[in-house]
Amino acid sequence: MEIKALKCPSCGADVEFKYDESKPFIFCQYCGTKIMLDDIHTEHRIVDEAKLKYLDYRQQRHEERLERHEKRHEERMKRREGLLSALGLKKD
Ligand SMILES: [Zn+2]
Repeated sequence: MEIKALKCPSCGADVEFKYDESKPFIFCQYCGTKIMLDDIHTEHRIVDEAKLKYLDYRQQRHEERLERHEKRHEERMKRREGLLSALGLKKD
């Protein structure tokens, strides 16, 4: 079993513990605070990474959409100009 250490969020002491997946919490040897291992080790990182990925993805999608939108707009304007000049309505 792996021995790990973390800082107690309550008293700041370095707490050593044996990491056991079936036990999601430990007690601080010094102040007795119950420390959720999930909170400290995994949850925050996973949540943050997931969030970052999601934001990245959103940003990318947003840029793609903008690009497509601009392209469409350009094409539409070109078609409009072509049509106008074909009808002899374009003044230039
Ligand atoms: Zn403590």
